[in-house]
Amino acid sequence: MTRITVAKGDGIGPEIMDATLAIILSAGAKLEIDEIEVGEKVYLAGNTSGIASESWETIRRNKIFLKAPITTPQGGGYKSLNVTTRKFLGLYSNVRPCMSLHPFVSTKHPIMDIVIVRENEEDLYAGIEHQQTDEVVQCLKLISRPGCEKIVRYAFEYAKQQNRKKVTCFTKDNIMKQTDGLFHQVFDEIAKEYPDIKNEHWIIDIGAAKMADTPEIFDVIVMPNLYGDVLSDVAAQITGSVGLAGSANIGEECAMFEAIHGSAPRISGQNVANPSGLLQGAIMMLNHIGQTEIAEKVQNAWLKTLEDGNHTYDIFKEGASKQKLGTKEFAKAVILNLGQKPSNLKPVSYSNNSALNLPKYKRKPAAKKVLVGVDVFVHWNGSNPDELAQKVKKIESMEIKLSMITNRGIKVWPDGFQETFCTDHWRCRFKPNDGIEVSKEDIITLLQKAIDENIDSIKTENLYSFDGKAGYSLGQGQ
Ligand code: NAD
Repeated sequence: MTRITVAKGDGIGPEIMDATLAIILSAGAKLEIDEIEVGEKVYLAGNTSGIASESWETIRRNKIFLKAPITTPQGGGYKSLNVTTRKFLGLYSNVRPCMSLHPFVSTKHPIMDIVIVRENEEDLYAGIEHQQTDEVVQCLKLISRPGCEKIVRYAFEYAKQQNRKKVTCFTKDNIMKQTDGLFHQVFDEIAKEYPDIKNEHWIIDIGAAKMADTPEIFDVIVMPNLYGDVLSDVAAQITGSVGLAGSANIGEECAMFEAIHGSAPRISGQNVANPSGLLQGAIMMLNHIGQTEIAEKVQNAWLKTLEDGNHTYDIFKEGASKQKLGTKEFAKAVILNLGQKPSNLKPVSYSNNSALNLPKYKRKPAAKKVLVGVDVFVHWNGSNPDELAQKVKKIESMEIKLSMITNRGIKVWPDGFQETFCTDHWRCRFKPNDGIEVSKEDIITLLQKAIDENIDSIKTENLYSFDGKAGYSLGQGQ
């Protein structure tokens, strides 16, 4: 018996949760259920997080959370409960299987069986944003070694457990050499530990295009958060319907399972919604908690129901489908098929699909870190970089000299192009005169001089080398 937390959510949430629970309990799932209230009612009662603190206690105690979609009210500063839950509970891995059910669900890609493993906690989703000048805002893209190691190892361990043949990594490390570069580097390091699984890396733009065009060449795909967010929806959609996909959010302690679609308020309360996405989430949950046989029984009954042509309205097709069923009737049809297997679609056979037991991240020994310069960002309304260089050179000292100015990353001084469009946000790079090292005191002196010279410095980034390797990018064109 496993005690789980269930939230029925908003819109179609209660209907699809009731249908899902009816199916898995009829199949013999051994569950004790604690129900909590999350979402719209909680938000509108004045709690901007959408969840009460007692509910967090229930989720943390039970560790397994089956969640129906919720409605995040527009405006009013309400925080997305999904993002909060993933981060609070350390659910670093988002797993989305995307499989075609041709010919029972129309798709341009009859042969498609992809699993997207998306990093779930960092990248641009850290949500650290600042406006720095009249014209420029920034969002910090944070990528960590532990974050990369955990998600990449998860992808390989998942592939190994599920007997999958290949793990592909998507990044844009030709442009983001530090952040995406680290993700790619860690992928290459960890791939070596799995010689029986093929591995490859694609630049995300062509990788995404290939995935949308010939998904059959991919198997497991691992990627940083933002790319994974976008591409997992694309992958689910091209199987024929986003309404059929479930997702697992896995952490070291806790896990949350859900459908990938939202609360579909327009069709709520009408007994028409397709419960399949949430059911797929629930099947992943049953596997995760070791109730593998039940998971297999439910999946095969669901596949049989679909191939028999018993469809909800969203996938119903005149001629191809047999009956258009409501939410409750679809659940009943799946329940009647429990114990049966599909004959056209491939039946599933889960052997050991329980929660993966990954080693805890071990911190590496610290590298030799040397301060080798500083980027001072300046708010300046002029347009001629040579003029700015003259101004900024006044704050140079014996120890540090201006080496470069960029605007939105492109070098504009020395030897800039007059065609380059410049905003009011300038990066002035200072390097040590001796070419070796600067001190933090040198930087403070520099900033004090900037105040004296009326230069509006808006932030600094220290430039470090780690074990002799530059930990910062060059200016474009440098
Ligand atoms: P949606 O996924 O709710 O709906 C998109 C379209 O798909 C609609 O036409 C809808 O009718 C249809 N659809 C979705 N699920 C279906 C199902 N099970 N059966 C049949 N048809 C289905 O996306 P949206 O309209 O952009 O968002 C509605 C609300 O859901 C918003 O408040 C949004 O914030 C929320 N949302 C929640 C989650 C979540 O809780 N995980 C995810 C996405 C969106």
